Amino acid sequence: MTASRFDLAVIGAGEAGIAAAVRAAELGARVALLEKSPQLGGACVATGTLPSKTFSLSANMFELAGRLKHFGVLLSGEPALDFGEVAASRQRLVRCDQGVIQSHLRANKVEIIRGSASFLAPDRIAVRREGGEVIEVAAPLCVLATGSRPTSLPGLPADGRLILTTDDIVGLTEVPSPLLIIGAGIIGCEYAFIFRTFGAEIILVELLDRCLPGQDDEIARIIEKELARRGVRFLPSNTVSGWEEAASGGLSALTSGGERLAAAKAVVCTGRRPFTAGLELQAAGVATGKRGEVPTDSRLRTSAPGIFAAGDVLGRRMQSSTAILEGGVAAENALGGDREPDERFVPSGIYTMPEIGAVGLTEAQAAASGRPVLVGKCPYAGLVKACSLYAYNPGLIKLVFDRESTRLLGAHIVGAEAAEIVHALALALKLGARAEDLAYGVYHHPSISEGLREAARDALSGLKS
Ligand SMILES: Cc1cc2nc3c(=O)[nH]c(=O)nc-3n(C[C@H](O)[C@H](O)[C@H](O)COP(=O)(O)OP(=O)(O)OC[C@H]3O[C@@H](n4cnc5c(N)ncnc54)[C@H](O)[C@@H]3O)c2cc1C
Repeated sequence: MTASRFDLAVIGAGEAGIAAAVRAAELGARVALLEKSPQLGGACVATGTLPSKTFSLSANMFELAGRLKHFGVLLSGEPALDFGEVAASRQRLVRCDQGVIQSHLRANKVEIIRGSASFLAPDRIAVRREGGEVIEVAAPLCVLATGSRPTSLPGLPADGRLILTTDDIVGLTEVPSPLLIIGAGIIGCEYAFIFRTFGAEIILVELLDRCLPGQDDEIARIIEKELARRGVRFLPSNTVSGWEEAASGGLSALTSGGERLAAAKAVVCTGRRPFTAGLELQAAGVATGKRGEVPTDSRLRTSAPGIFAAGDVLGRRMQSSTAILEGGVAAENALGGDREPDERFVPSGIYTMPEIGAVGLTEAQAAASGRPVLVGKCPYAGLVKACSLYAYNPGLIKLVFDRESTRLLGAHIVGAEAAEIVHALALALKLGARAEDLAYGVYHHPSISEGLREAARDALSGLKS
């Protein structure tokens, strides 16, 4: 078998792998991008970020359609949902995104090699193509970016029919109702709002005593209230311990609280696990951790010289946003750079209804770090832009500061445009902004961002007490 030679091979064409391949090519390397799926873009495009965001967009449009009369826009008849068109809009976005990715890779002369990659040696990779042909790629440098897979629950293996993973949701052809969602983390909550808006009855089961672990308590409470207001049945401190197929179709699930729940389908939203199956990492000398993750040092170097890793396979944040940063940095470091990806202030967008934007420490985390905390808030009801959008309830901007220095420690927003506004706060955190900087900044009027000034002023007024 003759080998094709490259300066650097990237395994996996998800967000991390694409970013790595493009950055390495920009730096002048001859790059091979190895991908086993016919589609480029990984989970972000196939089953994760883009699909869930197109569902979310359709749900928000549907809801807005019901409020259009407030803006003087009259439609004849009640708005209705065509779930077939919802799926079609996702496919259109995927096609558009495939075009963007392909032309980006082509412009940078990245060679895409289709097939499943496995190491023969640290600098030699076998790629098994569809149809069984195996080719060899030789490269002294490599970036591993093989991503993650959904986890399953004991006693509840996904079958793609009644018990679904988040990967299966994109294959739905109709809205299942009642829908049992197991796990009220980010993805479980997003899908609870989306499918409730699409008209499904939703039962949301969560092991912990609240939704959205890791998010600020006050924001999570607002979301729980909103779930209840919209008729989602939320069962905290509960899990599903068993299930059986119901004679009438669908399933009957048993909760740890002893309740039987009837549902058309269940979807398991309990997280994702790094994916390295079939890579033969031992042939390359790459060590893995207990969950199958590939540990690296702060410069994304694995245990094998010349082999770097980026994205979900690291088993850390599991977000497209950080995967993109890590992919580029891994490629730079492989080619002689010495950069640490700065992930101290990662902004999160959560597409619940209303959406959430969050960055930095929650109030509880800041308090637990032992420093005196100063909190400032601005409800959306105090913002004319939110009122004009009829989007003021619920809505809250909450800023967490260090009481002594008044430096910003964290920001938590629930309400319209929260996932956009949060970027300004991520920058403010990085630059060490103080409450005064935010309170005496100039903000476009009317805007939701004006609430940053009001929340910072609220915090400063708390200094006097
Ligand atoms: C429902 C859902 C919603 C999400 N929403 C968001 C969001 O709003 N914002 C956000 O930032 N993140 C979001 N995420 C997370 C995001 O999708 C992932 O963090 C991101 O896609 C990870 O990118 P990656 O490149 O590390 O891995 P992946 O996207 O998993 O890509 C890995 C690639 O490697 C390929 N591969 C694996 N093994 C091999 C092999 N042996 N040979 C060749 N190819 C191989 C796979 O086919 C795949 O294409 C969401 C995830 C889900 C599930």
